[in-house]
Amino acid sequence: MKLMIEVPKSVIRNPIISEVVLNTKAKLNIEKAKIDHDGGQVIVSVEDEDVERVVSAFKKWGARVKKIKHPVVMDDNACISCGACISVCPTDVFSFDDDGNIRVEEEKCIMCELCVYMCPVDALNVLE
Ligand code: SF4
Ligand code: SF4
Repeated sequence: MKLMIEVPKSVIRNPIISEVVLNTKAKLNIEKAKIDHDGGQVIVSVEDEDVERVVSAFKKWGARVKKIKHPVVMDDNACISCGACISVCPTDVFSFDDDGNIRVEEEKCIMCELCVYMCPVDALNVLE
C-alpha cells in the first residue's frame, strides 16, 4: 500500500525515515518526496502487513499519514483508448488489453501526474 506522509516543519531536520525503518523493520520504498517552507511530504510504498506499524511510527513524529488506496483512477466512460497515457507513463501502469481497451495496474503508479496532463479527454485523476 502507498502512504502519503506529511511531516511538520518542526521535526523536518530529524532522520525520520531512517528511524521508522529501524524501529519497524519495514521496507519502505520512497516514490516521491518534497520539502518546502511548510514541511515535508513523502509518498512511500509499504508491504500490507507493515502498514499499521509504519503509520503508527510516523505519527509518533507528529506526521499526518494518509493511506492511498487508488493512486490513479481512469474514467472508463471518458477514455477513447488513444494510448497517450501508455506512451508517457514511466512505470508502465497502462497497457491495451486484447479488446483494445486500456488496462490499469494502479499499484505501479508513482503519482507523477504525467498521464493526467497528457490525457486529451480528462479521463485520468491522481488521488491524494
Ligand atoms: S501518475 Fe505517473 S506513474 Fe501514475 S499512472 Fe500516471 S503517468 Fe503513470
Ligand atoms: S490518455 Fe486518456 S483517453 Fe487516452 S488511453 Fe489514456 S485514459 Fe484513455
